Amino acid sequence: MSTEKIRILLVEDNSADAHLVERYLRDSPGGEDFELHRADRVGAAREWLSSSVPDVVLLDLSLPDSDGLETVMGVLDGANGAPVVVMTGQDDDELALEAVRLGAQDYLIKDHVTAPALTRSIHYSIERKRIQEALRDSEERYALAVTGANDGVWDWNLRDESTYFSERWKSMLGWEGETIPSHSDEWIRRVHPDDLRQLERDLESHLASETAHFENEHRLRHRDGTYQWVLARGLAVRGEDGEPTRIAGSLSDIDGRKKTEEQLLHDALHDALTQLPNSALFIDRLGMAIAQAERRPGFLFGVLFFDLDRFKVINDSLGHSVGDRLLIAIARRLLGFLRPGDTVARYGGDEFAILANDIEEPSDVTRIAERVHEELGRPFDLDGHEVFTTASIGIALSSTGYRRAQDVLRDADIAMYRAKALGKNQHAIFDEAMHHRAVELLRLETDLRRAVDRDEFEIYYQPIVDLDRGRIEGFEALLRWRHPKRGLVQPEEFIPVAEETGLIVPIGWTVLEQACAQMAEWKRELPEMQALALSVNLSGKQFSQPDLLERVEQALTSTGLDPSTLRFEITESLIMDDAEGAVAKLRRLQELGIQLHIDDFGTGYSSLSYLHRLPTHTIKIDRSFVSRMNDRSNHGEIVETIVSLARNLGMKVAAEGLETAEQLERLRALDCELGQGFFFSEPLEASAARDLICRDPRW
Ligand code: C2E
Ligand code: MG
Ligand code: MG
Repeated sequence: MSTEKIRILLVEDNSADAHLVERYLRDSPGGEDFELHRADRVGAAREWLSSSVPDVVLLDLSLPDSDGLETVMGVLDGANGAPVVVMTGQDDDELALEAVRLGAQDYLIKDHVTAPALTRSIHYSIERKRIQEALRDSEERYALAVTGANDGVWDWNLRDESTYFSERWKSMLGWEGETIPSHSDEWIRRVHPDDLRQLERDLESHLASETAHFENEHRLRHRDGTYQWVLARGLAVRGEDGEPTRIAGSLSDIDGRKKTEEQLLHDALHDALTQLPNSALFIDRLGMAIAQAERRPGFLFGVLFFDLDRFKVINDSLGHSVGDRLLIAIARRLLGFLRPGDTVARYGGDEFAILANDIEEPSDVTRIAERVHEELGRPFDLDGHEVFTTASIGIALSSTGYRRAQDVLRDADIAMYRAKALGKNQHAIFDEAMHHRAVELLRLETDLRRAVDRDEFEIYYQPIVDLDRGRIEGFEALLRWRHPKRGLVQPEEFIPVAEETGLIVPIGWTVLEQACAQMAEWKRELPEMQALALSVNLSGKQFSQPDLLERVEQALTSTGLDPSTLRFEITESLIMDDAEGAVAKLRRLQELGIQLHIDDFGTGYSSLSYLHRLPTHTIKIDRSFVSRMNDRSNHGEIVETIVSLARNLGMKVAAEGLETAEQLERLRALDCELGQGFFFSEPLEASAARDLICRDPRW
């Protein structure tokens, strides 16, 4: 017990009674310290109370200035919340009880009072008052919290199912200010059928003491018929035997959060532009199809994977918004003919994937592929632009026996490349041969990496002839790979893989450095060959390296090669990839004195519109045109057209793949400046190339 004195105000007009109380307190069994103040009238008591706060008031009910309940009210009113213990005469039980009802904490019958009874009553009153206040505080806090959190409150009597629903509980469902029956049914019957089982399970496990508290999210039917997401939380109240008798708790409106969550989930799994499922959702569905195929022997599914053959051109020429609209229109057409159980996803960029579920036979899937070709081939009207497109479709079938989604997609992708190789607008079903080829490619890549480390590359040189003067004016450096097992490997076999893996970048720099060094060496040995030119092929990957100019300058200074005798062969596609950036970079190269030749002209995207803006020196006509110049196709005319185009743009023309005297004659007649081909010489090893210049052959 606290060592602080207990302050008592004794309101008593009878001195004898007052002394008695004083004595009892002195003799109190606990030996506490009491500080006794006395007032003999209600007026005096109120006055004392106006400046002091006692721990307890002992109040005689019959006083000269007041009597009975009036006394009680007079004192309670001014007691500032201090507990009041009433003292009455023998026969005033009724009165005493009434006083307690009015707010007195306890009562004592004067004639029965003993020292222990008095002190007990004082302690009891003080304690009871304290608890009441604490309870009120906590109730207030709870009420505040409930209103603050905007939660509804419910209290469910498990014995008779009667249930209290707070105003807020009702208003959440549109029943504010209305009475709804106080029965648990009012809640349960409004629960969304899909959520009811889980709600019952959560309730049961809490009532069975399996969970520390009850918590469940479910939908409740609003008065307007819509469903609202709510979160119910509660705690059971148990009897002595541990059996729950009541459960009470709160109901929070989580509709906004749930809808945001649903939206976020939707966004995470769908493509914002077309609203189709995205790759994540597609992989998920594919995973389910695989699981089903494993369980049900007859279950067959197919995956179609494709991208649009000319999307980039459409995007670049008509603008991104037209490109976007095309994708949306395609999505709509695909959805238009697929079955509801199928999934079509925008896989990324211009890539789409279709999962055809539960098909009868493989031909069902090829029929879908044909339909895709058909739909894409019908013109799309986008803002007055009539656009149509084609796709190369790769197909993988579940009959291969897949266990992982990635494997299906990998094979569909391999098949897509096969379809592309077959030409535009084709589809191909993945088969084992493709798999072997894919494995082969992988091996090639591994070997190629090793080749870079071990420097297994060699440069061959093919002469380029000045057709007018009939003499060698330069060499093109052409890469060869001396594979330890396979011998000499031609670039066609490994350059595409090197491009794809980025290995072309380090390989390309080595070619540049070694070829420059070789040429510089020849010029030191053969001073009359100062004007001899060196052509080096530059891949797109290399071209887009940020340190391109540094690398080139470094190769030139370290070898001392005159920049005006170096030329880069680039292809049209390299320019198309980033036309603006390309022009600026090409200008910088030109400023170094380097010539630029457009390689394989006529095979790539048509960049005629850019051609006049490029600092290009020479156009190299692709050998496919040259080789068929003299047959009855129109290739001869194409060559003529290219030559006259070059003339108009002030460029020179070189012919690749010159193999016959007739071709030479025809090209000379067209005033084509340069020629390169087996007619003059195949690409040669460095020493053989050197011999060739020494002999100074003339044609
Ligand atoms: P390209 O730059 O168009 O090179 C000309 C190709 O035509 C060479 O093939 C050459 O051997 C071949 N050729 C020359 N004259 C004739 C002929 O009369 N008839 C026939 N049928 N073919 C002829 P090669 O050496 O196999 O190179 C193929 C391609 O690989 C090159 O085409 C070039 O694009 C690429 N390449 C070669 N070396 C490099 C390199 O160092 N870097 C890069 N990025 N690409 C290279
Ligand atoms: Mg070339
Ligand atoms: Mg070429």
